[in-house]
Amino acid sequence: MGYVISPPPVPSLTVEGTGDTFPVRRIYCIGRNYAEHAIEMGHDPNKEPPFFFQKNPDNLLPADQPFPYPPKSEDVHFELELVVALKGGGTNVPVEKAMDLVYGYAVGLDMTRRDLQGEAKKLGRPWEIGKAFEHSAPCGPIVPAGKVGPLTQGAVILEVNGETRQKGDINQMIWKIPEMISYLSDYFTLAPGDLIMSGTPAGVGAVKRGDVMRGRVEGVGEITVRVA
Ligand code: MN
Repeated sequence: MGYVISPPPVPSLTVEGTGDTFPVRRIYCIGRNYAEHAIEMGHDPNKEPPFFFQKNPDNLLPADQPFPYPPKSEDVHFELELVVALKGGGTNVPVEKAMDLVYGYAVGLDMTRRDLQGEAKKLGRPWEIGKAFEHSAPCGPIVPAGKVGPLTQGAVILEVNGETRQKGDINQMIWKIPEMISYLSDYFTLAPGDLIMSGTPAGVGAVKRGDVMRGRVEGVGEITVRVA
């Protein structure tokens, strides 16, 4: 008995400061988790229940590689996000226990074909075509939580070609990290290897070929990604 085709490789991210890798099972992404970004997208920033979508694990792009401008879009946006990596899982995880599931953090980009996402929203269709395309999740190495410490505040900043475009702070998140984990675990069975992209601050915008995006999350690190 064997596989009838070669099994696909396990998507993974490097763990900073080691030769080790973190295997990725799922990527959950939360929408509109910073009030000012909700407003800029035309929505009410009040604390409504969070909503999630997913990217595919094999959409990950190690942040030291260029981001290939995707096909079928003329409006590809950056969204800089803190990424939470889980070492534990379960269902109905209480908020007080949620941080026990966290392995570490990374700096990531939720690259978005905004024109296709907008069309999907208008037609009441799923978002995958705008969100879950090839290389749509550039992500830096994972930094173990013990090296980061409590992550309740810290600047989240994205520059494009040296100019600041997004600027926020983790303390502006509408749904905090343990709340997100707990909420997700009521709907899905979380497991080691899951990533959660925690939402983006205001200032999202388009990139073009040749642009250089530099994203930083204070206390976690920074990534530099060129648009190819
Ligand atoms: Mn996002």
